[in-house]
Amino acid sequence: MRSFKVNNMNEIEIPIENVNQILAHAQSAAGSEICGFIAAKNGKINRVYPVVNVASSPACFYRMDEKQQIDTMRKMRESGEELFGIYHSHPSSGAVPSEVDIKEAAYPEAVYFIVSLNTVGVLEMRAFYLKDSLMKELELSVIA
Ligand SMILES: [Zn+2]
Repeated sequence: MRSFKVNNMNEIEIPIENVNQILAHAQSAAGSEICGFIAAKNGKINRVYPVVNVASSPACFYRMDEKQQIDTMRKMRESGEELFGIYHSHPSSGAVPSEVDIKEAAYPEAVYFIVSLNTVGVLEMRAFYLKDSLMKELELSVIA
């Protein structure tokens, strides 16, 4: 699924357009976590797909709507895209994976992006991947 070798990759490039979409999504639901998929085409981040958070306590957790997950995966395939990452927000904590985030990371091939709304006026977005049951951070570079 992953078209790059994460072990050899310290840096991810993400277009500013996609960063802004994720941030707008996070800000649209202040107080609740938001989530979605990040799709890549030819190994490059190409598109953001918001997915509804159906967690019973959305302030602290996210759970992607299952049907929408399946539909989005199909849309990606039909567009010649592949799953690159999963993003979600932390309305009131930092942009680091929680214990639950690590335990419930359902896509071991994906890069996990976390946006924090904890600091007003500052975008904090960080990227991690799962390795040996730990989340390792990747360098995130925003490109035009
Ligand atoms: Zn989280």
